[in-house]
Amino acid sequence: MHSPRIQSFISVSTDRIKILLGRINLSFFIKLKTRLSSYLEYKGLITQNTPERSISFSLYRKLAVCLLFLGIVLWTKDINTIPIPQPLILSHYEHPDISGIKYTFNNYESLYRVGKYAIGKFRAMVPNNQQIQNYVQETLALHNLKSISESRLSLGNPIPKGTTIEFFPPANIHNPRYKKDIRAFNYFMSMVDDSYAYITGVWAERGAGGSSSKHEGVDVAAKLGARIISPMDGVAWVRNINLGGRTVGIESENSLLLFCHMGKRFVKSGQKIKKGQVIGTVGMSGRTSGPHLHVSYGIRFPNGSLFGRHRYKWTDPMLWFYRQQYFSSSL
Ligand SMILES: [Zn+2]
Repeated sequence: MHSPRIQSFISVSTDRIKILLGRINLSFFIKLKTRLSSYLEYKGLITQNTPERSISFSLYRKLAVCLLFLGIVLWTKDINTIPIPQPLILSHYEHPDISGIKYTFNNYESLYRVGKYAIGKFRAMVPNNQQIQNYVQETLALHNLKSISESRLSLGNPIPKGTTIEFFPPANIHNPRYKKDIRAFNYFMSMVDDSYAYITGVWAERGAGGSSSKHEGVDVAAKLGARIISPMDGVAWVRNINLGGRTVGIESENSLLLFCHMGKRFVKSGQKIKKGQVIGTVGMSGRTSGPHLHVSYGIRFPNGSLFGRHRYKWTDPMLWFYRQQYFSSSL
């Protein structure tokens, strides 16, 4: 037989279930018990000599235990199949102290453009297209949640003029290098006179997927016609390049900064340039899908490519930024 502990557990459970079942339909179970007793008697499993009370108890116990386990199985199964409730509010609603970036849209302004600017501000990184897409959707969903009285905005339609959308930190884009990157990114963004500029590309040995060509520079997306400001003193060299379009190079000591895809150019070859001087405007010359400033950094190299008076090898413009940092901090 069972150990006393199990037996007492079973009897307690049985009692509880009996009470429960008694409330539902006792007569059904009495009938069931009688039927079972006569069936078992017929099968010869019990004899008439067995006291009926003990039979009924043992039957009740078995039945109760079966029902109990069945109940537990059904109960746990039920819990597992119920979807876990997801929080309806997004993470930043739990932190109302996080202030977003409010932007009021003009005609035909792209939600993606401002979205990319916001990602840059919050995360200082160049995310992939899927991440940008997700962030824009997240932003719209959040906006539609907030302004219940206003009409819904959707991705398929342009944002109506005068609509203000608040952009919050992306829930799913994180950049552990944020503090390091943001200083460099701000430096490159300061080369254009556009407070909504953002970085769309950095130095890459290989493009996304490892197949496309490498990218030898930093791209600063800015509005067409935004002024380009020289970050240093030097001598200007003006060239027109196939891919880079209208280009200005500024030479200083052993290095050269190239500015490509320009619209207008306000300098001539051989002209001395001062730090902070406007050298031209952001354009779309050369191969580009949108207005942006491409910045390349060349260091003087015997077998490099010729630009102005010297030959250069192209390297990561971030190195130029760190070099500037080094010299300004050691002054
Ligand atoms: Zn570029």
